[in-house]
Amino acid sequence: MSELGVLFCTSEMYPYAKSGGLGDVSQSLPEALRKEKGVKVYTIMPLYQTIDREKFGLEYSGLTFKYVLRGVSHQFDIFVNKCNLYELFVYNPILCDREGLYYDAYGDFGDNGLRFGLLSYACLEVMIRMNLKIDAIHVNDWQTALIPVLAKTHYYLTQKCILTIHNLMYQGIFGKEVMLDLELDWERVFKPESLEYYDSVNFLKAGIHFADAVTTVSPTYANEIQTLAYGCGLDDVLRNNSWKLQGVLNGVSEEVFGPKVDTMIHKNFNVRDYKYKHDNKKALAQELGFMSVDKPLFIFIGRFTHQKGIDLLIESFNLLKDFEANFVILGSGEEHYNHIFKSIATNYHNINIIVGYDEARSRRMYAAADFLIMPSLFEPCGLNQMIAMKYGTLPIVSKTGGLKDTVVDFTDVDYDHLKAYSGIGITYEEHNLFWFMHAIAKALSLYGNRKKFEKISKHDMQVDNSWKKSAKTYIDLYTKP
Ligand code: ADP
Repeated sequence: MSELGVLFCTSEMYPYAKSGGLGDVSQSLPEALRKEKGVKVYTIMPLYQTIDREKFGLEYSGLTFKYVLRGVSHQFDIFVNKCNLYELFVYNPILCDREGLYYDAYGDFGDNGLRFGLLSYACLEVMIRMNLKIDAIHVNDWQTALIPVLAKTHYYLTQKCILTIHNLMYQGIFGKEVMLDLELDWERVFKPESLEYYDSVNFLKAGIHFADAVTTVSPTYANEIQTLAYGCGLDDVLRNNSWKLQGVLNGVSEEVFGPKVDTMIHKNFNVRDYKYKHDNKKALAQELGFMSVDKPLFIFIGRFTHQKGIDLLIESFNLLKDFEANFVILGSGEEHYNHIFKSIATNYHNINIIVGYDEARSRRMYAAADFLIMPSLFEPCGLNQMIAMKYGTLPIVSKTGGLKDTVVDFTDVDYDHLKAYSGIGITYEEHNLFWFMHAIAKALSLYGNRKKFEKISKHDMQVDNSWKKSAKTYIDLYTKP
């Protein structure tokens, strides 16, 4: 079989730039694909000014080109990771010279349409100018969703285009003037079934139309987004394109996450030296200054946005404060939430609130905790719960999207056939304070049964949430005519 060439285009990728799950997946899926025989994966992303070029060994590749759009000449300099020549980076000042990736304290950057339009052009120009042998172009979310559009209507390419929707809520909706800025073909592109969206443009919608295959990150979410309740205004578009839509469950990197391999945690452990998990709890207690390590430790790690159930979480604090348990919240996101969390940070003796993005601390929390709270309103896949389980931390999740596909409630388990189950935790059906508190109470009672708790925790550590199966599904998608 001849070699399969894949160009994986993304706006973020761990460890260079990460705002959430997309950053993790952009690292871990190519990592898994590269382990498969005969697959060559190039990744390409912006070289944001916040990325430390020296630390990561990113070097100028020798390729610079200019692309003129609406009379403006945009220059692109292409960099490469000298330790992995398949990792490519695009530097362009409009795209890269920002404090944040997509927004700052004042909101989304006003020129995001132009910025990620430029990235889309650059990805295809690099492929052509560097003469990369590519069979499939895999794009992710709205930021690179214009690539299938350009590939089909501007470059007339024959490569298969696969679009993955990591979160339908973010679609890249801009005013029509971006059509001019990016010199898009009005006749072929500005149509109700593709880019046009209530007289504006919608990058994701156009990507769905022009891609040869569309995936999303869990089977349940693939069904949910075709309904009015979860479709974020695109449910009809997705239903019309359901013939090419598929849910492929995300995986977690075996090399980055896990109590045995994680270089950021206090003490490594695995199922056999499970007792060392407790040392991580002690270390975190010391770090954050909470006293009792015998009490159960609940953590929340995530973006502060409505989707993640932040309002419910805040509402619950007045009840959680009276529980014999410790809670640690790490997150950042929308300014009003950052503000609320900062202002209540010292109000509760057993709730520790850290506002910010801190990868190393998040790992120490996963390793130390007994339970991870994930009260999401919807969750395309969710990586937190899968990451937590690797560290023996039981997820408490609402039954939605990928959470439903990866976690089963411990009361529904037949313990004589434990191996038949994937992740085990606590699930609840309805998104309200009553059911959320009920789930926390169930967790407390489970914690009281040490033997059972440990059995589940060790089971979760061994669950296969790797990319092995899903990477094969993607290879099928790349190769299927
Ligand atoms: P999202 O909707 O944000 O993509 P996911 O569950 O798919 O959610 O992935 C979230 C990823 O981001 C996980 O790796 C999680 O540990 C990480 N993360 C989120 N917020 C923070 C934070 N404040 N500090 C460190 N890591 C974070």
